[in-house]
Amino acid sequence: MQIINGKAIAQEVKDGLCRKIETLRQQGKRIPKLSVVLIGTHAASATYVRNKERACAAIGMESDTIRLPETITQEELLAQIEQLNEDPMVDGILVQLPLPRQIDERKVLNAIDPGKDVDGFHPVNIGRLLIGEPASVPCTPKGIIRMLEAIGLDDLSGRHAIVIGRSNIVGKPIALLLLAKHATVTIAHSRTADLSALCREADIVIAAVGVPRLVKADWIKEDAVVIDVGINRDENGKLCGDVDFDDVKNVAQALSPVPGGVGPMTIAMLLSNTLAAYEEHEGGR
Ligand code: NAD
Repeated sequence: MQIINGKAIAQEVKDGLCRKIETLRQQGKRIPKLSVVLIGTHAASATYVRNKERACAAIGMESDTIRLPETITQEELLAQIEQLNEDPMVDGILVQLPLPRQIDERKVLNAIDPGKDVDGFHPVNIGRLLIGEPASVPCTPKGIIRMLEAIGLDDLSGRHAIVIGRSNIVGKPIALLLLAKHATVTIAHSRTADLSALCREADIVIAAVGVPRLVKADWIKEDAVVIDVGINRDENGKLCGDVDFDDVKNVAQALSPVPGGVGPMTIAMLLSNTLAAYEEHEGGR
C-alpha cells in the first residue's frame, strides 16, 4: 500500500512557487500578493488565516490580513472588497468563512473580482470550470487532482471514481475535475442508498463527508485509490479523516492520510492560484 504523502507533494509545489517568486524579485518585478479578510474572533478561522500568512511568507509571497469586527455591516464589508478589487497591488482576495449572521455569504463572494478569486468560489469561475474553460479552481479539489497526478493517475479513461459529498467547495468541483480527466463519476451524498455497495465498485474513492472514519475496508475494492478529505475529531478529540485509515490500508492500493494528506495540498494550491492570478494581471497590463 502506498501512502499518498500530501505534505511532501505540497512542499514540492511550494518550492517551485518559491523559485518563481525569487526570480521575480531578482528581476526587480512586483511581488504577488494575497489579501485575506478575517471577520470576528472565530478561533479556527484565526488559525487558518495564520497558516495562510505563514505559507505566503515561506515562499516569499506578500500577504496582508484585514481584520474586521464581528459587528461589521454588509455594506461596510462590500466596500472593503471593492477597495481590494481596485487595488493594483493585490492579486488574490480570500474572505475567510464562516461569516457573521448579518452577512449574506453569497453576496460577498459574488462581489470579489473573478480575476482575484483565488478560492474559486465566484459563480463565473464555477461556470468556467463546468464548461471546461480556464478558471480559478477551488483549492482542495485542485490539490486532490495534483495528488492523483503525483501517483501517476493522469488520464482516468475507463476508471470509475466515486465522490462522497456534494458540497460546493469540495464534492461538486472535484467531480467536475475528475470528469475532465475522463473518469466515470458517481456523486454520492447523505441521501444515497447503499453507499458501501456503490463504493465497492469504484477504482477511485474521494471521501469529503465530515463523518469520522465512515469509510471502512469492506467498502473498498481491492487496489482502489482512496483520498481522504475529511478533517474531524474522533470521540477522543484526535484528528482523523472520513476514512478508517488502519482498516482501509489493508485493501487500498494507495491512500492519503489525515493529517498530512489533502490539508497541506489545499494551502499549496491557494498559493499557486495567487501566483496564477498575478501572472494573468501582469500579462494583461
Ligand atoms: P459539507 O458539510 O458542506 O458537505 C458534506 C457532504 O457530505 C454533504 O454533501 C452531505 O450530503 C454528505 N454526507 C454527510 N453525511 C453523509 C453520510 N453519512 N453518507 C454520505 N454522505 C454524507 O462539508 P465539506 O465542506 O464538503 O467538507 C467535508 C469534509 O472535508 C469535512 O470534514 C471538512 O472539514 C473537510 N474539508 C477538508 C479540507 C482540507 O483542506 N483538507 C477542505 C475542505 C473541507
